[in-house]
This record gives sequence, structure tokens and C-alpha cells, in this order.
Amino acid sequence: MENRLVSEILNLKNEKDAIILAHSYQPPEIQDIADQVGDSLQLSRAAASTGSSVIVFCGVRFMAETAHILSPGKRVLLPETDAGCPLADCIEVQALRSMQEMYPDALTVLYVNSPADVKAESYACCTSANALEVVESVPSDEIIFAPDRNLGTFVSRKSVKTIRIWNGACRCHATADMENMRAVMEEWPDAELLVHPETPPEVWELAHAVLGTGGMIRHVAESCSQRFIIGTEEGMVYRLRTLYPEREFRTGGNIYCPDMKKITLQKILDSLKNLGPVIELDSEIRKNAYDAVAKMTEITG
Ligand code: SF4
Repeated sequence: MENRLVSEILNLKNEKDAIILAHSYQPPEIQDIADQVGDSLQLSRAAASTGSSVIVFCGVRFMAETAHILSPGKRVLLPETDAGCPLADCIEVQALRSMQEMYPDALTVLYVNSPADVKAESYACCTSANALEVVESVPSDEIIFAPDRNLGTFVSRKSVKTIRIWNGACRCHATADMENMRAVMEEWPDAELLVHPETPPEVWELAHAVLGTGGMIRHVAESCSQRFIIGTEEGMVYRLRTLYPEREFRTGGNIYCPDMKKITLQKILDSLKNLGPVIELDSEIRKNAYDAVAKMTEITG
């Protein structure tokens, strides 16, 4: 059944001039058929640079929106429209505007895990990897950082700027199971613990390094360790095992995102057959959101 679906998807993908992009938190069978696996920004850049006219985005809505923002001439499909992100959904335009009125001298730096219309209201976007660099580079000593409070706290501990932090969180990372993490560390005392900055500060204190998913991949490449405990969404363990089959990886903290598991092979096939559901944005919102994403690229290169 799975083999039949995979071969139908691959045939249809060529027929429809499509490319399949999958986030590192997607299930193994989706990562296996993707043309590229990566973090949301890497994938959006891949969407912009590909010669294919159709992008099947296997991730959640804000990621597919970012791909559309960066490549408006292409058809970006999200095979499951219900694949949302509770972190992105914890901020909306009016509430951000109220915070901006409270701090009129502050510039807003927005984590890419946010809706397009909120990106359109911000000065610059950032990722977990470049958040500090963006905050340090924007021309204000006062920053509104949204929507993830843990990433905001991580940045504020390293920056001398005044950071006004939005009180949002990724419910999967913010509720990382410390007991499980400690138990896995006891079982693998020689392993390095790598955790995502969306986890709470008490988790960072246990960790050897606090990194985004791209940073974890680079860290493993440069490390002499054989074993790693991964404190981010469990799909990342499959990604690391694929990239480094000679090393050993385990999850720590029971971090599981149900929205990241909503896309299935059958939904990808249906999406290719119907060339939908398509991501569409109001042109003014897309343009302003593009400016915020472009500002990040200008800063970080
Ligand atoms: Fe959103 Fe968290 Fe899921 Fe990422 S892991 S898509 S931030 S809920």
C-alpha cells in the first residue's frame, strides 16, 4: 500500500512539475519521499530557488505561508489545511498593535513561527538560529520579541537591549518532560543533550547546547561524541539518524507535535491530483510580510 502510494506520488510529482519539501519534524515516510528536508526557512528558500512551479509543503500553515511570501509566482500547496501551529496562533494583529502602542520606541522582531498578517506588522523576522543576531542588529535599543517567550528569554539573556517579551509558547516544547530527560541522561551518561530554545530555561541548564534544528545538525557534524539526546520534536531524531547513521540518537523530553503529523502520503497524493489546497494571501499582507523576512535576510546574509 505504502509502496503504491509512493510511486503514484513520485510519478505525479514529475507530471505536475512539483517539488516536495518536508520539515524535519515530519514523520519518517514523509521525510523519505521529500526532495528536501530542513527547517522552515531553509525550505522557504528552496521553494523560492527551485525551477518547479508547484511546491508541496509538508509542514504547518505558517511555513507554507512563508514559502508563498518568498515565491509568489509559484503554487504552494499545504496537503492538510488543518495543520496549524498553536505557537503561531497565540498572536494576532490587534494584540500586537496594542503592545506596540505601549512601547512606541521599540521595534518588533518576530519569530518566523507566526502568521503572515502578524509578520506584516513587524520590523524584522528571525529564526531560532539567528534571533540574537537580528535583535542585536535592528536600529533600536528596545525590542518587542514575539511570540515565543522561551526564545525571547534566551535572547534577552545574551543581549544588552531591553527586550519586551510576548507571553506565547510552543506547547510541545514548553511542556518538555524533565523527568524523562533526566532518566534518558542517566541511561546514556556519555551522551550530549541538545535542546531547542523553545524549551523552558530549566531544560537549557541540563543541556550541552541550546540550538535550532539546523544548529543541531551542524553540532553533531563537528562533535566527537557518539551519542546524542535530542530535546526537540521527535521527528528530528529520524532526520539525524538518516544524516549520521554511524551515531546514536534518542529523544529526550517526550516532545511531540500533533500538527506536524497531520500530513500523510495519501494527503500528498490528493494534493498533487487536485493541485490544492493552495496557500493564498492578501497582496498587501504578502508584500509587508516579505519586507520583514527580507530585513532578516539583509541582516544575516
Ligand atoms: Fe508549532 Fe511547536 Fe508544532 Fe513547531 S513544534 S509547529 S512551534 S506547535
